[in-house]
Amino acid sequence: MSLPVPVVWSEDCLRHEPGGEVWLGVRDPGTEVPARALVLRDALAAAGAPVVPARPHGEQVLRAVHDPLLLEHLAGIWRDWDAAGLPASYGRDRVVPYVFPTEAMLAGLPIRSPAAVHGRVGRFCYDTMTLIGPGSWAAIRGAADAALTAAELVGSGERLAYALCRPPGHHATAAAYGGSCYLNNAAIAAQALRESGAARVAVIDIDAHHGNGTQMIFYGRADVFYGSLHVDPGAGWFPHYAGYAGERGAGPGQGANRNLPLAPGTGDSDWLAALDVLCAEARALRPDAVVVSLGLDAAATDPESPLCVTEAGYLAAGRKVAALGPAVLIQEGGYDLPTLGALAVAAVSGAAAGAYG
Ligand SMILES: [Zn+2]
Repeated sequence: MSLPVPVVWSEDCLRHEPGGEVWLGVRDPGTEVPARALVLRDALAAAGAPVVPARPHGEQVLRAVHDPLLLEHLAGIWRDWDAAGLPASYGRDRVVPYVFPTEAMLAGLPIRSPAAVHGRVGRFCYDTMTLIGPGSWAAIRGAADAALTAAELVGSGERLAYALCRPPGHHATAAAYGGSCYLNNAAIAAQALRESGAARVAVIDIDAHHGNGTQMIFYGRADVFYGSLHVDPGAGWFPHYAGYAGERGAGPGQGANRNLPLAPGTGDSDWLAALDVLCAEARALRPDAVVVSLGLDAAATDPESPLCVTEAGYLAAGRKVAALGPAVLIQEGGYDLPTLGALAVAAVSGAAAGAYG
């Protein structure tokens, strides 16, 4: 049977070659690799899903989500890094920060833009795992364009669309990147849906990790609900500093944020029970559209998380989230190449069942 869900794809997403990640001071090969995108695309296409090219978009909607200085940094940092001779003369073949202007360092001083390109990176990047190379910006824009194209399909009447975003996005905040994420594709899709007429949007994040970026982008807003189930950061997992149950939103957004941290080892039944809680809260807000941060790294086979969800779990989850309303599925994490394709097909098939009955 054919999978009736458009898969929005940008060839540019293959151009991001982070070349590994610096974790605890050592450069590892990393798992956020271009092959992920090919595995996902090929599995969904083999299941019969039509592959739709992402359309290019201007920066206007990106600026509604992200600080223009972050956009400028991401667009130009490789060029500046290269021009400074860091790859050719110093063997630094990727952009990695080494000094971070934390609140504790500045103690109230205004933040500057350092003259040295290598000093500037830590202003915008909050970890050492999120490297930039020559093709990264094209891929980052391609991922955002895929999210926007999928949002347009849903905004113009499609019940369901899937954006094959790579690099992923949910750890990117308004003004900073990290966690292998650069621009927040899910937040960009949610904002685009708002601007195309959806009065209320619910973002449901089922990636194994908390989407700290998405949470903080909408933390003070009542028009976009953010709900996430993820491995408990308090049990020692990224993003460590956010994702706790007490974070419920602020100001007008009070109550529009919901975190359900889960113990390492959580499997299908408890994971789906938590998703039911999120979906009930989202449904009570009567969302006009839904954005799903579809991370496949909660799978038992995934090397990046200790959750133990199965293909059947993802199938059931897809059905639940797509039943909430017209839905844009945004690809987030998922790193086990041998099982990734089948997990995606399960999640998207479940969503098709939830959307079309
Ligand atoms: Zn993740």
